[in-house]
Amino acid sequence: MNLQEVLNKEELNSDELRFLLNLSDPKDLDLLFHKSLGIKNLYLGRYKNKIASVQFSNYCENNCLYCNFIEESIFPHRYRLSPEEILEIIANMVNENITNLILQSGADSYYDTDMISYLIYRIKKDYNVEVTLDLVERRFDEYRAWKFAGADNYLLKFNTANEKNYSFFTQNNKLSERINHIKYLKRIGYKICTGNIIGLPYQTNSDIINDLILLQTLKPEMILNSPFIPKEFTKFKNWAKVNFSLVKKITAISRILLKKSDILISNSSDMFTMEEKKELFNLGANTLILEYYKLNHKNKLRFPVNRKKSSAYSGSKLF
Ligand code: SF4
Repeated sequence: MNLQEVLNKEELNSDELRFLLNLSDPKDLDLLFHKSLGIKNLYLGRYKNKIASVQFSNYCENNCLYCNFIEESIFPHRYRLSPEEILEIIANMVNENITNLILQSGADSYYDTDMISYLIYRIKKDYNVEVTLDLVERRFDEYRAWKFAGADNYLLKFNTANEKNYSFFTQNNKLSERINHIKYLKRIGYKICTGNIIGLPYQTNSDIINDLILLQTLKPEMILNSPFIPKEFTKFKNWAKVNFSLVKKITAISRILLKKSDILISNSSDMFTMEEKKELFNLGANTLILEYYKLNHKNKLRFPVNRKKSSAYSGSKLF
């Protein structure tokens, strides 16, 4: 297969994706990364987006095997913020080029339709930002209500295109259901953010290829392919972290598949070092997620920082 020809195609089939995924010669990899950076610069420019995420609850009614926050977990560090606390955090952080605000929680029905609608309404009334909901799967009538309240985007990852693995890790949920939710959200006007987990236990090359094909089919406006992080309270706590070279390849291939979509990477040091973030921006990623409220690696609540005093979470070293 001719690398240059594959890189110039609009759509890629599984053989071509396998070919890109198997590249190992440094010259070939340079060509891949050069191409993906060129596409980013051509379609999106050199500008980097900053979006902010507020994780306001870490309760979850689901039981994904790789996650600390599952309902059955002995994980002791639980918290829920009130709507007023959430709005106070947002008031402290919505400045300095934040264009998009992610409201994030586990599947936590404590926050009902009206509470979330109220938050969306207040944010849209007071600030010039897009609102992205990251609330796992909810009812279809709730998606509609939140769209009417002003929400712009919904983050719902498919995590893997392998049905058996999806069902195993989510303890019997169905991948087809997740895809139906994503398609429904898209149909009623949300911009979608989705992606896979790179390095999910038992993941094969064929799984990754199918993940990329699903991404190409769903055509999300935002892509979030997160690296697998072994979590302390899970049965995969000793599983190896994913090799960064695979993350680079998948980021570059995602950029080649979806030229105009935003590719998001987390600012969290649990995920990437500063150097790694820079590398990902240099091969196709264009958006940094600043996590303003979350547990840190010692399971202590991380409070929003005063950005005038500290650039710890601002990503300013990258911009
Ligand atoms: S839905 Fe999300 S927060 Fe809930 S258990 Fe699964 S991965 Fe964790």
